[in-house]
Amino acid sequence: MTELLSNFWASQWQGGKGAGTALFDPVLGDELVRVDASGLDLASGFDFARQQGGAALRTLTYRERGAMLGAIVKALQANRDAYYDIATANSGTVKNDSAVDIDGGIFTLGLYAKMGEGLGDRRYLLDGEAARLGKDPLFQSQHVLVPTRGVALFINAFNFPSWGLWEKAGPALLSGVPVIVKPATATAWLTQRMVKDVVDAGIVPPGALSVICGSSAGLMDQLQPFDVVSFTGSADTAAVIRSHRAVTHGSVRVNIEADSINSALLLPDEADEAGLDLLAKEVAREMTVKSGQKCTAIRRVFVPQAMYEKAAQAIGARLAKTTLGNPRNEAVRMGSLVSRVQFNAVQEGLALLKTQARVLHDGSTMPLIDADPALACCVGPTLLGVDNGDTASIIHEVEVFGPVSTLVPYRDIAHALHLIRRGQGSLVASVYGSDPAALAHASAELADSHGRVHVISPDVAALQTGHGNVMPQSLHGGPGRAGGGEELGGVRALNFYHRRAAIQASTAVLGLL
Ligand code: NAP
Repeated sequence: MTELLSNFWASQWQGGKGAGTALFDPVLGDELVRVDASGLDLASGFDFARQQGGAALRTLTYRERGAMLGAIVKALQANRDAYYDIATANSGTVKNDSAVDIDGGIFTLGLYAKMGEGLGDRRYLLDGEAARLGKDPLFQSQHVLVPTRGVALFINAFNFPSWGLWEKAGPALLSGVPVIVKPATATAWLTQRMVKDVVDAGIVPPGALSVICGSSAGLMDQLQPFDVVSFTGSADTAAVIRSHRAVTHGSVRVNIEADSINSALLLPDEADEAGLDLLAKEVAREMTVKSGQKCTAIRRVFVPQAMYEKAAQAIGARLAKTTLGNPRNEAVRMGSLVSRVQFNAVQEGLALLKTQARVLHDGSTMPLIDADPALACCVGPTLLGVDNGDTASIIHEVEVFGPVSTLVPYRDIAHALHLIRRGQGSLVASVYGSDPAALAHASAELADSHGRVHVISPDVAALQTGHGNVMPQSLHGGPGRAGGGEELGGVRALNFYHRRAAIQASTAVLGLL
């Protein structure tokens, strides 16, 4: 029997009472560890976090909480090698892809640690200036942002077991709100191990950070009006969360980061081909990093009709250089999907897209390096193409969560923008071109249906941070089918964990806030 991972619950390491669910190596097929949360006293864990963890965090100032985050960063950095080993074994990722999750998470946490310093020795924040309520300036209204006195429950997706925890926990803990994380079962090991290292280092007060691995059954039932829930995952599960009684009747604040059919757009009139080159490079990278298992990955690529063949060739040529297989082999650039379930889901999604699209670059016949095709959940990158983006409906609706993207020709910029909007709201679109006016116009047009617009012109080609890389300074989240959530965006992330209230009082009272 493999190890049964413990849950950190009510400040105690507690194993579940059941046999547990096994986590597997998606390349070798070995069972790695098991997780189980059955039999835990859920109510007491939530109460402990709410009362003990919340109270302890709220006694600290933002500066002190920032220092606490800084200490977490150090504890995590000291154990990076172990995290890389877990990611290789459990997520099937090559080193560079593991870094996106592990170092990306630590970097994001580091930014919030520094932010604490800037927010200073306060325990709540002022929101804007005081406003006069009448002719006499003595009686005014001052808005304040105070930490919510509940818990932050994170229900996370399988693709970012590290980043998914820390991009949420950074802002929550800095706000003074205790965290309960429920990682996706398939890759829960890395999240559990990181929490264990932080707990073992004695950095956070009891109740400030809890981890529960295994089934999510009953977690939502524990939520009370001042708690918040931040969910990342599929649109179907998001609908379950949104319709839970705690949300509909208790007004529990909920943030949803769901799936998204992100786009890349090559502007018309890019005759110099520099834009095409930048687009092809980025599309190939987005398709292959983490085997396309990124919520921000490019799923649809829009190019002017006249550039369609050239774009297919340029992207295909880059994809052909990908090497696929066992992430332990130095020659491999792209590892596997996280599980057999995901492998099957990608095959099914690909088959669905192919009913309306043809294959421009076929990854299905790629040989695997150092891996058994019967066992390894490896999928080669596949570029699809359609002739008519108006009639091909599925490419705008179905997110295949793997190394798959579809090339779509357009007539003019209005047509391209119309087709992109058929994604019904996305996390990110990237735009490629060299005319600043045309780039600015397209960005503003795309902004209402995207959380982020990433604009690549030749002058920033070497500086740009990547279409799919979520930088903590920028907003993450998108409207419509992307879930309607908002995360990160620098200090804006703290809003979700604070309550805003207006205090109407005399200037003398307001001056003491
Ligand atoms: P999922 O199946 O919806 O699972 C997400 C989380 O919800 C897991 O922790 C899962 O636990 C839990 N869960 C499942 N059923 C639940 C229920 N009835 N009540 C409460 N929780 C429940 O999604 P996934 O397959 O892990 O993730 C892939 C999807 O996430 C993709 O569509 C991707 O686009 C999206 N994603 C979005 C973002 C973003 O920031 N927008 C980031 C990453 C991923 P178990 O694992 O134990 O079932």
